[in-house]
Amino acid sequence: MRRFLIAGNWKMNCGPYDAAELLEGLKEKKADVDENVDVLVCPPFVSIGMAVNYLHDTDIQVGAQNLHFEENGAYTGEVSGSMIAESGCNYVIIGHSERRQYFGETDTTVNKRSHKALEHKLAPIICVGESLDQRKSDEHFHLVKNQVTAALFDISEDDVLDVVIAYEPIWAIGTGETASPEQAQEMHEHIRKVIAELYSEDTAERINILYGGSMKPANAKELLSQPDVDGGLIGGASLDAASFSEIITIAEELS
Ligand code: PEP
Repeated sequence: MRRFLIAGNWKMNCGPYDAAELLEGLKEKKADVDENVDVLVCPPFVSIGMAVNYLHDTDIQVGAQNLHFEENGAYTGEVSGSMIAESGCNYVIIGHSERRQYFGETDTTVNKRSHKALEHKLAPIICVGESLDQRKSDEHFHLVKNQVTAALFDISEDDVLDVVIAYEPIWAIGTGETASPEQAQEMHEHIRKVIAELYSEDTAERINILYGGSMKPANAKELLSQPDVDGGLIGGASLDAASFSEIITIAEELS
């Protein structure tokens, strides 16, 4: 039985002061979360320590937005999996389309980062998704299959159960444009089939697949009602305590 995961990706927003204010609002509304729903916030690195301390007496977990695939050493500006785990995180976002677009992230580095996350008992939230051009030219199913296959290369069947996939159509991220519930469902079903081919039906049934792309209180119910949509990776709406907690409540009602 899969549980909903409602995850907030704060991107490059909220240093420690703003983070405290946002978390204060969230704590007021949602310190206790239904046991069938997991809630996660992913602040920028500099606010992680504060968020972990601040949320220790709540059901809200903390994750990072990236990690480096080397253990430590001369990689100025980078943060390793062991550092993130030691800071109290249990998830890490990997391969967000913004990292693929602006920071040279490739399917190969996504795979390397995913291995490193698993090594440190961090659940990788692996982002996949197509551009508008790729959808228009009907390449989206093939592209997402390739992204999922490459990201999971050499990950064992035991380990893959800790992986979360986030389907995030690039054309819907931060644009206000959302995939229709039908578009989300057909891609999530496709991703589950890809995982079944790579591993087994049973494993595919157990893996969480999130939708990301302008999810907000107004569309969350329809999206989260789809049989293969197991939660959301939420950017803009996660920066507003009222909107994010409304989405959590919707997931609680559906679970
Ligand atoms: C994201 O950044 O992962 C995302 C889905 O952003 P937004 O909800 O703002 O589209």
